Amino acid sequence: MKTVLTIAGLDPTSGAGVQSDILTIYQHGAYPLSIPTAVTGQNAHGVHFRRDFSIEDVIEPLRILFQTHTPDAIKIGMVGTLELQQQVYTFLSCLPSRPPIIMDPIMVASSGKKLMDDDSIAYFKTTFLQLATLVTPNLSEWEILFGDSYDFTASSFSVLKKGGHATDHANDILYENDGTHTVYKQHRIHAPHDHGTGCTLSSAIASNLALGHSLKDSVAKAKAYLLNGLSNPIIFENGHGAIRK
Ligand code: PLP
Repeated sequence: MKTVLTIAGLDPTSGAGVQSDILTIYQHGAYPLSIPTAVTGQNAHGVHFRRDFSIEDVIEPLRILFQTHTPDAIKIGMVGTLELQQQVYTFLSCLPSRPPIIMDPIMVASSGKKLMDDDSIAYFKTTFLQLATLVTPNLSEWEILFGDSYDFTASSFSVLKKGGHATDHANDILYENDGTHTVYKQHRIHAPHDHGTGCTLSSAIASNLALGHSLKDSVAKAKAYLLNGLSNPIIFENGHGAIRK
């Protein structure tokens, strides 16, 4: 069975983060491996607090896992501190070979809580991102990371610019580092219960890559999976519901 590793934060509601990734990866017919980077306190009203794990709590489990497991793809979500980013970067960049890495550059939760420290953003941009095969920013993350003037042909990674927060459409654009781009047209749908959208999309893309699909097809399949989950969400008694996996 193909395996997909998620390196991400814990969300007790299972709408986002590690638990959501595990559900998504398993639904794709791949086997989920997971390294949590932080615990969050959240409910249907949003993220109330986050506590990042120590370097030992993250790197030691990673080191032990890789002694017997070789993931076919890796999804990286919340890695909220400079120290954790540096250590995860060092660990993964020293592997003899790396599978495709899908990086969801999570900075702020939809409910407003910061999930990445300000003092790590410069390192994230210049160094941590270099681990990625594909980075999946939403429009505000795109502005911070790439602004208006990013040269994708000079980049080692491809970028999926997600249009979900646009006002007139929800088109996504895949800029591949061979200079080509693909527009995934999507009309806006009314989807108020969308907790975990970014996590689900990135782990679905990682799963499809692990199963052997091309990057373009992996994105298309992941978008179809996400649309289905958004159209049929899990709604809790009150508050913000999560997309179905
Ligand atoms: N909690 C964790 C652990 C996450 O990884 C994310 C993902 O971005 C969130 C919360 C926020 O999810 P959302 O912005 O979809 O509500």
